[in-house]
Amino acid sequence: MRTKINELIPNTNVCINGFIDRIRDQKSVQFIIVRDLYGSVQITVDKATKPDLLPITEKLTVGSYVTVLGNVVENSFVKLGGKEIIPENIIIESIAETLPIEADSNIDQKLDYRWIDLRQPKNALMMKVQTLLTKSLRDFMLERNFIEIHSPKIISQPSESGSDLFTLEYFGEKAYLTQSPQFYKQMAIASGLERIFEIAPVFRAEKSFTSRHATEFTGVDIEMANIKNLEEIMQFEEEMLAYALIKVKEVYGEEIKNVFGVDVVVPSLPFPRINMKDAVEILQDLDFDIEFGEDFTTEQEKALGEYLVKKNGHEFYFVTGYPADFRAFYHMRDENNPTLAKGYDLYWKGMEITTGAVREHRYQKLVEQALEKGNSKEKLDFYLDFFKYGCPPHGGFGIGLDRLTMLLLNIPTIKEAMFIFRGPTRIKP
Ligand code: ATP
Repeated sequence: MRTKINELIPNTNVCINGFIDRIRDQKSVQFIIVRDLYGSVQITVDKATKPDLLPITEKLTVGSYVTVLGNVVENSFVKLGGKEIIPENIIIESIAETLPIEADSNIDQKLDYRWIDLRQPKNALMMKVQTLLTKSLRDFMLERNFIEIHSPKIISQPSESGSDLFTLEYFGEKAYLTQSPQFYKQMAIASGLERIFEIAPVFRAEKSFTSRHATEFTGVDIEMANIKNLEEIMQFEEEMLAYALIKVKEVYGEEIKNVFGVDVVVPSLPFPRINMKDAVEILQDLDFDIEFGEDFTTEQEKALGEYLVKKNGHEFYFVTGYPADFRAFYHMRDENNPTLAKGYDLYWKGMEITTGAVREHRYQKLVEQALEKGNSKEKLDFYLDFFKYGCPPHGGFGIGLDRLTMLLLNIPTIKEAMFIFRGPTRIKP
């Protein structure tokens, strides 16, 4: 039976599997470092006592995959955990050619060979953390009786403006890849499923080359019926994120500190909230040329983030009170001031991670808002119909999982905070 490398017990016979990480060939002895997902160990081959292994070890190359059968021995001279394996047998499962990348290769080379790049312990840790993050978000919702949906990714009509859609041919008709599950989340609410979520791919045909945009990413999308106000949605999200960060810190806090140099901070509740009007005033005080009614530029967003995170001593903040003009047509308007939408963006370490809103569930109002924004009713009819036959008041939000991972681990680019990155000039491997 195979033993994981972090579970080696001295004076036992084991069978391990792993990649060859390094080989050091000395006159009388060979040191071979083998690594699996859990750790690394030194295999020490004494040439005099194990001549039968030499024809095998001569063939070994870095990256090759091996099975090693042997005895675990305590040895305080071994830097790697004070243990080594004295092998009885080494089986080469697969020989590697010279590896095309190294730990310090440039990012594009690394992405070309992402599967080799992912063997690095740092990247494996990123994947483990993302797994736990997703599990924790999912657990939080399942504990609250949410239903998980899987909505179609091939659609006939876009849910947003349509500018960032990938088109495809669907048996002679034009179809698109979803840039958000928004319409289907709301359909599920009209279906009476009450509280639903989906964790699934989202496609955006944006030609952006920023460190935080991908053309395909994983969205964590949530929609809840019987929401009375925006505050309820924000409270739900902050509790959910705090819950997930507690779990991540518990299990991986120390490893994340050692490998990424990041302290996972469990955020206090409630997260700070700021109104768009006040945010604009702060930016004006910081000498930015912005008026209320204009959206933030990237630079303004960054400056506001730096200012607020420092002032509040909190990594998160919600921005509310956005003008309806630059929010989606399905966001409910504020009764006291219909020029404003009942929506928010949530920022973490100065970067947007979520857009949330109370949705307009009243058919007539929704049609009016859709038309006001220049949508054609015919095209949207399939969606508008969801609200014709009774629909609970509702609201929800969407989080970008890859952005969340990137910010959690302070990874400088989203390209390295996901399994495989897709961008305007990257569609392989
Ligand atoms: P941005 O302004 O940063 O482009 P957005 O306003 O288009 O984002 P939403 O449509 O509100 O984003 O999507 C919800 C969340 O999905 C965002 O807050 C972000 O976390 C994530 N997200 C959006 N676009 C991308 C992208 N291209 N790559 C990765 N994550 C994204």
